[in-house]
Amino acid sequence: MLSSDFSRLGEEVKKITEAGADMIHFDVMDGHFVPNITFGPMVIKSVRQYSSLVFDTHLMISEPQKYWKEFADAGSDIIGIHIETAVDHKAVIKDIQDYGKKACMVVNPPTAVESIYPFLEQVEQVLVMSVNPGFGGQKFMHEVVHKIEKLAEIRSKKNLGFEIQIDGGINEETAGIAKKAGTEILVAGSFVFKSKDYRTAMESLR
Ligand code: ZN
Repeated sequence: MLSSDFSRLGEEVKKITEAGADMIHFDVMDGHFVPNITFGPMVIKSVRQYSSLVFDTHLMISEPQKYWKEFADAGSDIIGIHIETAVDHKAVIKDIQDYGKKACMVVNPPTAVESIYPFLEQVEQVLVMSVNPGFGGQKFMHEVVHKIEKLAEIRSKKNLGFEIQIDGGINEETAGIAKKAGTEILVAGSFVFKSKDYRTAMESLR
């Protein structure tokens, strides 16, 4: 939703749902972990009524351990936390799952993918950032593609169940690259929301 029209966020959620989205991705930024601020749990709660799709909440915040529960209560189904945060990741993931939600481990472009290996057996989803987080409309960083390949290889070798998601700079060209490397979930912002027709844009990515 980062590239949607925030002045009518509920309508945008409804419109993207009706256009055939598989899930809805919310980028939460705290002005501390990333140099931008978006919205908090109250906003997610207010738009929950506009869609019955899975709400995938990506917490780009320094203290996910303090706030994840508010996002869960607001209606988030999947909660993503960054490996770059100074928290006990294993404990936070367990708390999220014990609360009945799914957990996602997120890795930024400069961070080695190996840093999230200890969590692969625990999480339902991993998110490989393909731009430095903070703003929509950035260019896809091709240097992260090897991370997806490595994750897909480990998953298949160890028969693990997590899904691989990519976020940042997704368009018709980069969607194919990400898919080929092993990604199941494409997070697309500008490509869809700046298009004339959301359905056509999403279909072209598929
Ligand atoms: Zn995101």
